[in-house]
Amino acid sequence: QVKRCGKNNFRFFAPELNAHHQERIEIENDLRSALDRNQFELYYQPQISLSRQRVVGVEALLRWNHPDKGVVGPDTFIPVAEEVGMIGDISRWVLETACQQLADWRAAGFDELKMSLNLAPHDFDRENIVEMVTNCIGHYRIPASKLELEITESMMMQDTVGVAAKVRELRQAGIGVAIDDFGTGYSALAYLQKLPVSVLKIDRSFVRDLDGLMTNPIISAITGIAKGFGMQIIAEGVEHAQQARTLRALGCDVMQGFFFGCPLKADEALSLIGSTPRAV
Ligand code: C2E
Ligand code: MG
Ligand code: MG
Ligand code: MG
Repeated sequence: QVKRCGKNNFRFFAPELNAHHQERIEIENDLRSALDRNQFELYYQPQISLSRQRVVGVEALLRWNHPDKGVVGPDTFIPVAEEVGMIGDISRWVLETACQQLADWRAAGFDELKMSLNLAPHDFDRENIVEMVTNCIGHYRIPASKLELEITESMMMQDTVGVAAKVRELRQAGIGVAIDDFGTGYSALAYLQKLPVSVLKIDRSFVRDLDGLMTNPIISAITGIAKGFGMQIIAEGVEHAQQARTLRALGCDVMQGFFFGCPLKADEALSLIGSTPRAV
C-alpha cells in the first residue's frame, strides 16, 4: 500500500502558469507580503539509512500557507519568487528556520541528524552566500557536516556568477553540497571533476522506472560515479519496498520517499525521526 502523501499535500492551483495569467498575478502580489505575514512553513521529509535502520537526515521542503488558496507547493511559487527577485529573502528565511529547527532537535538529543535544504540559482548571485550560511550555523552551533545544501546541475553548468568557487568554499568549510535531481539536466559530467560536491541525489524519475529486476544500468552508473569521486548517494522518490530493495542491491543505502515518510510538519517529523524506518 503506497502512502500517497504528495498528491493531496497541497494544491497545484496553477499548473500552467501561462494559461492562468490572472492567477499568476495574484501569486505575485500575495507573495510579496507572505514573508511579513509569516505564511511560509518548512516541512521535513526523512532520509533513512537501510543499513543503519534509522533516520539520518531530513530535507526541508517549503510550503506556503495561503489565506485563501490553502497550502501551496514550491513548484508553483518558487519560479515566481525567482522572477520577481524575492528568492534571496525566502532562501534566507529557509536557512534560518531550518537551522533553528535542527538546533532544537539537536538539543532534544538527535545530534547525528543532518539537515538538507534547497537553494535556487539566484542564491549564488549573492556575494556573501558562503558567509550567510557559515554565520547561520555558527549562530545555532551546528557542526558544518550536519548541513547539506542541494543545488541542481543546471546551476553548475552556467557558471556565470562563480558558483563553482562558492561551492568549493562551502565544502572547504565542511558544509555538505548535494546535486539534486542528478542525471536529469543537460550536464556534461566534466563539472564533477572540478567540483567537490559530497552527495549525488538520484532523481525520482530513475527510481520510478525500477521494474523489479535487481539490475539497472542508470542506477549502477550513478553509484559508480559517486564511488569514483568518493561521494555519497541518496535516492529520492522511493514509494515501494521493492524499489528500496533494488536500490540496496545496487549499492544505494540512503533513501527518501513516500514509502518511508511524507514531508511533515516539524512536530510530526520529530516522531518519525526517533523511530525505526519501515522494513523493506
Ligand atoms: P526536490 O528538492 O527534488 O524535492 C523532492 C520533491 O519530491 C518534493 O516535492 C517531495 O515532496 C517530492 N517527493 C518526495 N518523496 C516522493 C515520492 O516518494 N514520490 C513522489 N512522487 N514525490 C516525492 P515538493 O516539496 O513539491 O518540492 C518540489 C521542488 O521544489 C523541490 O524538488 C525543490 O526543487 C523545490 N523546493 C522545495 N523547497 C524549496 C526551498 O526551500 N527553496 C528552493 N529554492 N526550492 C525548494
Ligand atoms: Mg531537494
Ligand atoms: Mg530532487
Ligand atoms: Mg526536484
